[in-house]
Amino acid sequence: MLIVLASDCTPGDRQRVVAAVEEAGCTWTPLQAGGRTLLAVSGAVERLREVPLRRWPGVKKVIALSDAYMLASREHQAEPTVVNVGGVKVGGGGFVIVGGPCAVEDEASLRAIGEAVKSAGADLLRGGAYKPRTSPYAFRGLGLEGLKLLRQVSQETGLPTVSEVTDPRHVEACVGLVDMLQIGTRNMSNFDLLVEVGKSGHPVLLKRGQAATISEWLLAAEYVLAQGNPHVVLCERGVRGFDPATRNLLDLSAVPVVRARTHLPILVDPSHATGHVGYVPSMARAACAAGADGVMVEVHTHPAAALCDAEQALLPEAFTDLVEDLRLLAKVTRSARPVR
Ligand code: PEP
Ligand code: MN
Repeated sequence: MLIVLASDCTPGDRQRVVAAVEEAGCTWTPLQAGGRTLLAVSGAVERLREVPLRRWPGVKKVIALSDAYMLASREHQAEPTVVNVGGVKVGGGGFVIVGGPCAVEDEASLRAIGEAVKSAGADLLRGGAYKPRTSPYAFRGLGLEGLKLLRQVSQETGLPTVSEVTDPRHVEACVGLVDMLQIGTRNMSNFDLLVEVGKSGHPVLLKRGQAATISEWLLAAEYVLAQGNPHVVLCERGVRGFDPATRNLLDLSAVPVVRARTHLPILVDPSHATGHVGYVPSMARAACAAGADGVMVEVHTHPAAALCDAEQALLPEAFTDLVEDLRLLAKVTRSARPVR
């Protein structure tokens, strides 16, 4: 349950509300959202049903919610959130294309890929500098040096950037160098990290956990929102399946489900979902048709030499064709009917 306090709520009004909540055995957390103070109430909220809170002085409205996430819920906010990433708007009806290498490897290759992604017509440049790898012996990224290269190529190409942050201690440095902080699948439930990116107020791309339900994913988003950071974009990247024919199982039905449950935008990552260059374009087009707010695709000028995720990187030519397809498709699917 969300209790939205009125702008003229006095300390006495608030204390009366809090006392009623506590008397019912519920817990409460004060939140700031959209310039208002809200109390997020959880526990046995049905015990508050008989209390006419909404008519009490200092209370603007009371929102009964069907799910545990509150700020992320469409019941709290009906209109879609639009996240501004370095001037590129994600959500609200457009279609955003993110392209770039899995990892920033060196200056020359990043520049070549950045220029290719730009001339293909993409909106944002991706590239990991802190790489969470399954094997401790694999290439784990260039760290801060990689972020500086990303900033440089971003300035040269004019493309804002997305890069993963894996450690709460790195958040501040990442905020200074990238336009959107990615939380990878392995860290969706790293709650200290979510709180830290929440406090940063910077745009966040929150990937779905490898075996996370949509409710768990939206609760992870809630951690960021509860810190007063409304700039959250979700990213479906496939969940653990049973069939090794694809790297993961792309849950495209997450797009309409997320759309129904939350106002947050959603991107789809067909690269990590399928793990295979041959399957990426069709799943990217399917994501567009399903109503996603955009896609994130791995691109490399020399995939065979890529230090990470070589099998799934599109060559610039294939990426250029895909961007062209997606722009056409987005025009048809979005002009036909607004996505609700
Ligand atoms: C990535 O985007 O490079 C990445 C590691 O993705 P995920 O967290 O989805 O595996
Ligand atoms: Mn990758």
